[in-house]
Amino acid sequence: MRWKRRKKARPGRFPGLELCDLCAATFPEQRAVRGYVADSSSVHPVNDWFDGLRLLTACGPEHLESLRAEYKRRPFVDEELWAAKMTRALTSGPPVLTLEQLACRTGLHVPQIRRAVAWRNARPRYDA
Ligand SMILES: [Zn+2]
Repeated sequence: MRWKRRKKARPGRFPGLELCDLCAATFPEQRAVRGYVADSSSVHPVNDWFDGLRLLTACGPEHLESLRAEYKRRPFVDEELWAAKMTRALTSGPPVLTLEQLACRTGLHVPQIRRAVAWRNARPRYDA
């Protein structure tokens, strides 16, 4: 018996339809062209194997290539990735009470956590 992965419906989307990340065109999901790019702002909600990778969806190969080129110009900042891992750990699962617990939950070393905090503190906040 073959085991098939169940697809999860993405909230806010119409079932069976996809959206191009470049031009916002909608099209049937089986026509989607997809690819991963390196992106230090992206962490997977539950699987840290995909941290630092962003899955792109495009309406065709030309738009996927344009998106790839755009992400190639974006710098990959380790501190940004570590900060994103910390945010995931702090906003899901049991509460994190100590720096050591945060290190354990993120797989980061304490000096990396300190650098990520300094990096985050040096950036303007848009959520206030
Ligand atoms: Zn497109």
